[in-house]
Amino acid sequence: MLKEIGRNDLCWCGSKIKYKKCHESFDEKLLWYKTQGCIIPPRKIIKNQEQIIEIRKSGKINTAVLDFISEQIYIGMTTEQIDHLIYEKTVALGGIPATLNFEGFPKSVCTSINDQVCHGIPSSDVLLKDGDIINIDVSTIYNGFFSD
Ligand SMILES: [Zn+2]
Repeated sequence: MLKEIGRNDLCWCGSKIKYKKCHESFDEKLLWYKTQGCIIPPRKIIKNQEQIIEIRKSGKINTAVLDFISEQIYIGMTTEQIDHLIYEKTVALGGIPATLNFEGFPKSVCTSINDQVCHGIPSSDVLLKDGDIINIDVSTIYNGFFSD
């Protein structure tokens, strides 16, 4: 599966770079892992340099939104307000909140408080109390690339 391409052929990943200068050594590494009994990822989830650059841009927006929201949190705030701020900031930075409408999820962020492990849905009924621990799980789509 991994060796049907010539070293001087263009790489299978779409980079327009010769295979030997692009993914050949990566594929050899995967082949070695396969011989060790490891499950190796399908090529469709392996990204090229251009795609990785876009993923990194998405991640930078995501990190900026996290930094932003961490400065906005206060006692008495609702998780709905957090959701609104996340939406506005993500869009202002050129992204789309990845959770919004993902498999029916109605909000732009997951807000999970105290013993709620994850996937809390922001609500105007949920107010932050002194001592609460909140997990704000931000994820972003930028130019079709996801970060979480
Ligand atoms: Zn490649």
